[in-house]
Amino acid sequence: MSIVGRYLGDFGSLFFPDICQACGTTLSQFENNFCIICLHQFPFTNFHLDADNSLAKQFWGRVNIGSAVAFLYFNKGGQVQNIMHQLKYNNQPQVGVAIGNLYGKELKDLALYQQVQAIIPVPLHPHKIEKRGYNQSEQFAIGLSEVMNIPVCTDILSRNAERESQAKQNRSSRFDNMQKVFSATTNTEKFESVLLVDDTITTGATLEACTMALQEIGVKNIHIVGMAFTE
Ligand SMILES: [Zn+2]
Repeated sequence: MSIVGRYLGDFGSLFFPDICQACGTTLSQFENNFCIICLHQFPFTNFHLDADNSLAKQFWGRVNIGSAVAFLYFNKGGQVQNIMHQLKYNNQPQVGVAIGNLYGKELKDLALYQQVQAIIPVPLHPHKIEKRGYNQSEQFAIGLSEVMNIPVCTDILSRNAERESQAKQNRSSRFDNMQKVFSATTNTEKFESVLLVDDTITTGATLEACTMALQEIGVKNIHIVGMAFTE
């Protein structure tokens, strides 16, 4: 590197040091997105080792899915809340990719996912895409895709913003209306088995609606994968 380049490089790191997206500490040149301490202290769920985990149980009796896992527990005021804040409100899409890379390494060799043909992110409301510039669930999907070698597919599932505002107005039948918010099309290749991915999973209502839309076009095996889960 030239002296000028090095000089600018130093200035760059002086004003915009790379920080850990989970705790805010300055990263060393060997660290990427997360510091080594955070990487060891993440509240991992290990749901992928337990088919009857508490997230999967949420869907019992509601909708028929292949499996459900999430990488981390959402800890309020902790690392995972910081990560989600950086990803959603501080223009750090690469954080979603990084989390996808980490979780992809855990999932890629599991027998459960060997037949999966596509990774489908939950579509974001168009107003939010406009504001944020990207869909955070899609960033997570890209990270999973890079490691698992399964393509991301964003043209199957779509979100109907108009229906959504109607659903919000009508609280009594919110669950019924939620199901009309998402629709799936068969224009593209036919998929039997997919990963449906989301950022933070709480009630699972969104994923339930997406699953039903995908089942309507004949997707048989739907595996749910979240970045984080709120118990
Ligand atoms: Zn950290």
